[in-house]
Amino acid sequence: MFGRAPRRSDNTKYYELLGVSKSASQDDLKKAYRKLAIKNHPDKGGDPEKFKEIAQAYEVLSDPEKREIYDQYGEDALKEGMGGGGGGGHNPFDLFETFFGGNPFGGGGSSRGRRQRRGEDVIHPLKVSLEDLYNGMSKKLSLSRNVICRKCKGKGSKSGASTTCPGCQGSGVKVSIRQMGPMIQQMQHACSDCKGTGETINHKDRCPQCKGEKVVQEKKVLEVVVEKGMKHGQKVTFPGEADEAPDTVTGDIVFVLQQKDHPKFKRKDDDLFMVHTLSLTEALCGFQFILTHLDNRQLLIKSEPGEVIKPDQSKAINDEGMPMYQRPFMKGKLYVQFSVDFPESLSPDQIKAIEAVLPRKPTPKLTNAEIEECEETTLQDVNMEEEMRRKQQQQHAQEAYDEDDDDMPGGAQRVQCAQQ
Ligand SMILES: [Zn+2]
Ligand SMILES: [Zn+2]
Repeated sequence: MFGRAPRRSDNTKYYELLGVSKSASQDDLKKAYRKLAIKNHPDKGGDPEKFKEIAQAYEVLSDPEKREIYDQYGEDALKEGMGGGGGGGHNPFDLFETFFGGNPFGGGGSSRGRRQRRGEDVIHPLKVSLEDLYNGMSKKLSLSRNVICRKCKGKGSKSGASTTCPGCQGSGVKVSIRQMGPMIQQMQHACSDCKGTGETINHKDRCPQCKGEKVVQEKKVLEVVVEKGMKHGQKVTFPGEADEAPDTVTGDIVFVLQQKDHPKFKRKDDDLFMVHTLSLTEALCGFQFILTHLDNRQLLIKSEPGEVIKPDQSKAINDEGMPMYQRPFMKGKLYVQFSVDFPESLSPDQIKAIEAVLPRKPTPKLTNAEIEECEETTLQDVNMEEEMRRKQQQQHAQEAYDEDDDDMPGGAQRVQCAQQ
């Protein structure tokens, strides 16, 4: 057959990422990408890694040539085609901006000069607790980055001279031709001899500090300040702190806050939500409990005398929600939803005691004659959610069946639909 055995397992991931079938049209791909890219954009609290993968998947599948290679040989074949491991793929944000024509979230993102080459932004997710967001905190993080070599000022050579790269004649790119089965594929990739710069430096002339690399690694400590009231997905940006490279505007280091789940509180905007469980006795006769807040203050929460709490009833405490970002003295509300633990069953004595103190049942007492006239019924336990789901499935099945009846007298089509 062909030179290389296709590995089937490698060539479905991109389709799965975009949630489309292998036969999806360009239009389907576009729609799927648009939806996912907005949903997973780090500006909206999405996972930067996922966002990158989605962009990568779309970049490949939207290019008919790359798609064909991917379909036949999978992801690895495409990576080999890019050559040298230098380029490292495209910036997913560039793809996003091309697609949407600017940042649709407004949000004052970095204004990217199109004319000058700009280094990539480096995006790090930063896990924070709800306590961190409530109280504010700062965290020192040590990162290593490339900086322009001071000794040679980024020239890479002692003399400042460089020569045209013989591998690419100074163009910085190489074109390779490879045969993939019946297809001849022409690929352009960054020249591996000069890493796409188009020039090389004589061995003897190389800068001893950076060995001709023009950049050196440097450790840098950044202090990320998480202010009170910041939100999940919010970005803390260090402009121009990403890797430096010659003739390039240095990108930003961006930390994207990722709030860890809290065992007690859920947050929505500036409000906090919690569930507190009461016994039936507490719900009827009154309750009080101590709540430890996110700053360790102890709040006493109690019912009014004589007040009865109903299952799923909610109450709010003003100014005990989250502090507002940049106005930390203003706070949202704390909502407490009560769930009530009912006893599983009652003994005859308990029933008698309760009947003695609670108001009479509103229904009039039934006579034996009335009861004898009726048919007996049995109440069964059900899970209402499951019950509704099952009903919906039945309805869909019935609709599919009805549609078939209208236009297809034959049986073949019906079998197909029933399997879907
Ligand atoms: Zn070259
Ligand atoms: Zn140097």
